[in-house]
Amino acid sequence: MLKLDNHLSGRHFLHIPGPSPVPSRVLRSISYQTIDHRGPEFGALGLEIISGIKKIFQTQQPVIIYSASGTGAWEGAMVNVLEPGDQVLFYETGQFANLWRALAQRLGLNVEVVGKAGQDTWRWGVDAAVIEERLLKDTQHEIKAVCVVHNETSTGVTSNIAAVRQAIDAAKHPALLIVDSVSGMGAAEYRHDEWGVDVTVSGSQKGLMLPPGIGFNAVSERAIEVSKHNQTRKSYWAWDEILESNKTGFWPTTPSTNLLYGLHEAIDMMLAEGLEAIFARHQRLASACRLAVQAWGLENQSLDSDAYSPVLTCVALPEGMNADKLRHHALEKFNLSLGTGLGKLKGKAFRIGHLGDCNDLSLMAALSGVEMSLESVGFKPKASGVVAAQDFLK
Ligand SMILES: *Cc1c(COP(=O)(O)O)cnc(C)c1O
Repeated sequence: MLKLDNHLSGRHFLHIPGPSPVPSRVLRSISYQTIDHRGPEFGALGLEIISGIKKIFQTQQPVIIYSASGTGAWEGAMVNVLEPGDQVLFYETGQFANLWRALAQRLGLNVEVVGKAGQDTWRWGVDAAVIEERLLKDTQHEIKAVCVVHNETSTGVTSNIAAVRQAIDAAKHPALLIVDSVSGMGAAEYRHDEWGVDVTVSGSQKGLMLPPGIGFNAVSERAIEVSKHNQTRKSYWAWDEILESNKTGFWPTTPSTNLLYGLHEAIDMMLAEGLEAIFARHQRLASACRLAVQAWGLENQSLDSDAYSPVLTCVALPEGMNADKLRHHALEKFNLSLGTGLGKLKGKAFRIGHLGDCNDLSLMAALSGVEMSLESVGFKPKASGVVAAQDFLK
């Protein structure tokens, strides 16, 4: 039997880059009795959530809320504004960009992947100049959308989305800008309206501090306009019925009532802390984590100092050392969960999540657990990363 409530004393240190720890306030709200999702009480709650979530995405436009994981929200974005055969440009930043591209291909989109020539794109943020150059060549405007991952969770790189919008505008190209900020939202700076994003895809279980199960599509006026003429067959993912129902605080199908209680609470918590303070806290924790990695003498998977992720740090181990062995050791011995290497980084790298409900001491616990686990793979740290991080944080 799965022992979720196991015998270990103390807390479980969940430091994977999502799902992230759910604060007790959010857990308590999720445990309220489920109510009638067509009743007046729910409508009032729905309206508060629908207006509150816009503040988190920094948009005046609607945010569509699905009962789905982030992948569902990816699909929702694609089927509302794109049609099979449409040409779509993806920038490869890592495993999540790849998975999203694979989903687009399954939907029949005509996918093209770009990246900066001669560069290991899994170690750098999006180079907007590459996108601009490609769009300039598309004189017939065949490309219908540019898709980029804001925070690439597999590598720990956060790309400059405003620069991508500028590149599209500089090329005077009408392509829509679709951004995955599943792991960035609520943790890394994000401005849907100001950055001119047409669809922002997100999910509940990363920066938003909720369990998995809610997916989001923030939209632009243009995306809504395009969706009205879209011919792709869809039902569950269609924005129009949801937006219509949302006007009075409801959903056309049964929403995840209890997760929405949690979302309501999480929005309150985030607005109380303030978005700018949240972004700064994540940056600070990430800086401390990078100092630890550097002190140990390990390599950051990200080589892009302008784009280090505030959400997570991906640590590459020297050739021949097994990162999953280190992770297993940390879990067995210290009840600490670290993120596995994804895709081609499997076994070669591990990821430290410092997102959502994380503070100085929770990060320090994770760093201590990593430091004490390094020997399990035969790695002798150059110096104490824990001390380096403490010196920065104190
Ligand atoms: C987690 C994640 C997803 C996928 O979300 P699921 O909830 O697992 O479907 C997509 N993109 C990024 C960048 C992610 O971090």
